[in-house]
Amino acid sequence: MRLAAGAATDAGRVRDHNEDSYLLDDERSLFAVADGVGGHRGGEVASSTALEALRAGVASGTALHEAAQSANSAVYDLAATDEALRGMGTTLTALTTIGGSTALLAHVGDSRAYRLRDGAIERLTEDHSLVEELVREGRLTSEQADSHPQRNYITRALGLEPDVEVDIVSVALHAGDRILLCSDGLTTMVRERDIERISRNETDPARAAELLIDAACDAGGEDNVTAVVIDFLEVDGAEAPDPEALAETSPPTTPLPVSEPDIGPPTSAPTITVTRRRLRSFLLLVLPLILFVGLAFTTVAWYARRTYYVGLSGDRVALYRGVPGGLLIWDPTVETISDIDLRDLDPADQAAVADGVAEGSRDRAESYLATLEERATAATSTTSTTTTTRPPRRTTTTTRPPKKTTTTTAGGTARTSPATITGGP
Ligand code: MG
Repeated sequence: MRLAAGAATDAGRVRDHNEDSYLLDDERSLFAVADGVGGHRGGEVASSTALEALRAGVASGTALHEAAQSANSAVYDLAATDEALRGMGTTLTALTTIGGSTALLAHVGDSRAYRLRDGAIERLTEDHSLVEELVREGRLTSEQADSHPQRNYITRALGLEPDVEVDIVSVALHAGDRILLCSDGLTTMVRERDIERISRNETDPARAAELLIDAACDAGGEDNVTAVVIDFLEVDGAEAPDPEALAETSPPTTPLPVSEPDIGPPTSAPTITVTRRRLRSFLLLVLPLILFVGLAFTTVAWYARRTYYVGLSGDRVALYRGVPGGLLIWDPTVETISDIDLRDLDPADQAAVADGVAEGSRDRAESYLATLEERATAATSTTSTTTTTRPPRRTTTTTRPPKKTTTTTAGGTARTSPATITGGP
């Protein structure tokens, strides 16, 4: 693989100092931009510290994603030791080559990587920014995002936490491809079609970088602006990427398209990032739904099984666990069957019990059952004509239906009610 690269950076027309940094290391085929944020000198310290750590990591043989983590640690640790640097952070978009026709990108933040092929540019990274997330969620259009007052808010950066999630993107290369790495000072000032035009028309990479910076400054230069342009003059296009090199440089949990010797369609390169994003969106959408349904199901189950009511089991009044008629998949179950015969109750109680009288707790249901028993007893006592040791509702009389009529105490074996009444007028 043979390549040529150039870079340019500028504070722009508004800022009085430049917090962007770039890295151009032909020897290691390592290139990067970093856009620092933080008060006073924090931003420039963050971006330069990150790139120094990245280069040191790659130079020592560390894989790109681990070198990016080292860069994160370097910024984080430095911020912790100096009050003036507290809260500083930086974006990072870094590229290194592996194998004969493949490059790897490590990306955090809203700097970007583009590939120019056959005169057309294709974006290779996703911004970790508030507006881009709103665009992905369909809550903002791209046009609204371009003018959004919070378009500079980034949602991920190096140096803010002990660990950072780094997007790793595998990029297939052809001879003649050009890669552009740039800070948001370019992309917020210059439209992509103008970036494409400038990149296409200037063959010298260093000069192309300068022209891109000029275009950003001419458009207002509201932010620091940096461009790194890498031309791949010769690549081993017929050769598949070296699997060993790929294995060494790829993150252990992220499979890369190692078997693709050729270049995929325009959208294939950032597949890993996109897949992660989709998975995250899916989980964010579906998990709350699953939790809600689970909670609702549990609540219904709890209600259905912790509630008691008084109803009928055949002709007798019974205590049920559950809800009259059942609820979803939970049918009521009989807890106890009392000695109270439905016909011993007055019509109002008969109707109520036939429908089921929900009492909530077991104590309340048992209390209601006892009340019914008293009423039944009173009712039958007042109509008793025979003295008996049997429960009163069993003792009488000619007014009862045949199955309930008894004439002596002998039939008392039918029930075992504790009530033994000696009654009658
Ligand atoms: Mg910036």
